[in-house]
Amino acid sequence: MYEHILVRYGEINTKGNNRSQLERLLLSNIQNALGQWPQIKVRRISSRTLVSLHGAPVEAVLGKLEKVFGIRSLSPVMAAPLDVAAITEVAAQVLEEARHLGSTFKVKVRRGNKQFPLDSMELARHVGGALAERFTELQVDVHEPNVTVHIDVRDDGAYVYADVVEGAGGFPVGMSGRVGALLSGGIDSPVAVWQAMRRGLVVDLVHFHSFPFTSERAQRKVEDLAKTLAGWSGSLNLNLVSLTQTQAAIRKSCPEGLRTILLRRMMFHISTALGKQYGWLAFVTGDSLGQVASQTLSGLHVVDEVTDLTIIRPLVAEDKLDIIRRAQAIGTYETSILPYDDCCSLFAPKRPKTQPKRDEVRLAEAELDVEGLIAAALQAVEVKKIDRDA
Ligand code: ATP
Ligand code: MG
Repeated sequence: MYEHILVRYGEINTKGNNRSQLERLLLSNIQNALGQWPQIKVRRISSRTLVSLHGAPVEAVLGKLEKVFGIRSLSPVMAAPLDVAAITEVAAQVLEEARHLGSTFKVKVRRGNKQFPLDSMELARHVGGALAERFTELQVDVHEPNVTVHIDVRDDGAYVYADVVEGAGGFPVGMSGRVGALLSGGIDSPVAVWQAMRRGLVVDLVHFHSFPFTSERAQRKVEDLAKTLAGWSGSLNLNLVSLTQTQAAIRKSCPEGLRTILLRRMMFHISTALGKQYGWLAFVTGDSLGQVASQTLSGLHVVDEVTDLTIIRPLVAEDKLDIIRRAQAIGTYETSILPYDDCCSLFAPKRPKTQPKRDEVRLAEAELDVEGLIAAALQAVEVKKIDRDA
């Protein structure tokens, strides 16, 4: 039975000076992700981290670790005392667990502990020979084996593993600062948020609704998306902001063809004001160039001028199909395609302007009490704390 999981770092390894600080951050993110198993111990072992299970279920723990950013790969490992016969025995158990991977294998030894009596070649040859005798249906292949049994000989014991599971990559959440993110109920913005988290950002979510015109289940859908995202980052804030009053004002005073662009400017105005409270330097959106009328280059340009925050658009140059694939992989797709109303589609004009001019948009916006609408929206913000699933 596997007793530990070996965690290998990703890009942290390229960060000379900050490395130890980032390692500590990753360690604490790992501990948070595994909080439901208090018996688990997490500790550093020379440029890697060892998660000791103490009875916690290996598959479930792996599932949580696969969602921790900053991890390159993971291996369930078995421990053996520093004794050749004991190591051979454990190597046989590991090969037994991994033999479904194919019919050829090799043994690879890393000997950090120079006191160990056999050198790495000798130990590999000894264990490999013993395994070949015992597993007569398997062949040794030192060049391209289906299974590599790794033996890591350290001062406190030997660690033996075969499987290498890919991690989530990126940087530990918390490394890169705090930003806002505009989360709709669509396919794109959850993927954009995920990509921002993967770069190490802590994300405060903002969702605009027009209750009672948008439904409660539309809001629950967004909470579900937030919950899935929290599975990757740890608990986060979801700010629910009403646009009902803003939409009424736009409808009353502005040309229909500019409604969408004005609404998006109001989203940015309100997000910027909210960002001052949270201390964001930037916010994230799921815009992707050319997908809809408001996502033409001039559409984005006209909206960006209302904010002095940096706009992060991780998907701006991505293909829709790639975004969909990623949404499926991270677990948001099935929720995103639920057909509930959203504030933009309810409000969309029949013929939105695809090439809005700055001057005409500014002129139209001048008809609105922008400051008053921002203040009213902020006053009614509802903040929900979203925890990751236990
Ligand atoms: P998505 O799939 O993310 O909804 P989309 O392709 O449907 O994107 P739009 O509806 O034009 O494009 O929205 C562009 C971006 O604006 C979204 O990705 C999101 O970041 C933000 N946004 C749109 N509607 C909302 C909303 N109701 N609440 C918060 N942010 C929103
Ligand atoms: Mg949308």
